[in-house]
Amino acid sequence: MNEPASNDTPPTTMPVCWWHPGRQTGLSCTRCGRAACPDCLREASVGYQCVDCVRAGREAQRRAHPRTVAGATLAPRPVVTPVLIAVNVLLYVVTVAQARSPLDNERATLFGDWVLWPRAIAGADQWWRLVTAGFLHYGPVHLAVNMFALWVLGRDMEAQLGRVRFIAVYLVSLLGGAVSVYLFDDSNRGTAGASGAIYGLLGGILVVVLRLRLNPTAAIGLIVLNLIISVTIPNISLLGHVGGLVVGAAVTAAMVFAPARGRVVWQAAAVVVLAAACVALVLYRDSQLASVACDYQGGELLCTTPSGA
Ligand SMILES: [Zn+2]
Ligand SMILES: [Zn+2]
Repeated sequence: MNEPASNDTPPTTMPVCWWHPGRQTGLSCTRCGRAACPDCLREASVGYQCVDCVRAGREAQRRAHPRTVAGATLAPRPVVTPVLIAVNVLLYVVTVAQARSPLDNERATLFGDWVLWPRAIAGADQWWRLVTAGFLHYGPVHLAVNMFALWVLGRDMEAQLGRVRFIAVYLVSLLGGAVSVYLFDDSNRGTAGASGAIYGLLGGILVVVLRLRLNPTAAIGLIVLNLIISVTIPNISLLGHVGGLVVGAAVTAAMVFAPARGRVVWQAAAVVVLAAACVALVLYRDSQLASVACDYQGGELLCTTPSGA
């Protein structure tokens, strides 16, 4: 390729492969120009590149797109966090419209159908309440407090985890909080709010801070402050918070401590195992509340239990 073939030139003057001195070749790398045999060349976007140049190109690409401790590429701005906030606000608006009251929006039919009411889950198999209640809020203050926390914590967590892992941590934490309420709370009381998921993000932030060896004082302070708020404000479920906190910390630990090799498999397995544990606990509580009987009377669900569980 470099030298025109001529009748006087014996074939031995052809260049040899840089990696295989015994092999003559007429080919060369389009990037570095070194002679290379077909075994040492890879097809590139333009021409063929030698194995060294291909490796160097991959390395440069990796440096240009650094990854976080969870294996996520750095995203310029949050997407999932504002979408979650929009969904919560939209559902609040729907309940306000139905109830015709911004404060007593729990009277809305959507609220009645979606709130975490343990007896309706056990007696009428309305299991969706374990998830949907996490998107409802009692009045504007409850909504505003949770959405502010979601904005602050969600942006940091989404940046560290990436979109898909972040939504997984959010939903598993939400489920963990709901299952904890279902297991331990008064079976005839309704619970709602994104707090379980938000506490999951709080626990997750603490884990990320520890993983990155940052000073954990601010994260611990944020958790203690929020636990104090949840004890002092009435109608807020401490159980849901603790359940979300524990599950959120556990799933985030799996995200940021998973080995780089097979990382996605470890991360997905952690989500599946935690979700399966939540389902197992729901089935266990179902058996405890087996005596609950529900019936629609005049369009309204009534649930009673002979034992008063
Ligand atoms: Zn090359
Ligand atoms: Zn070669």
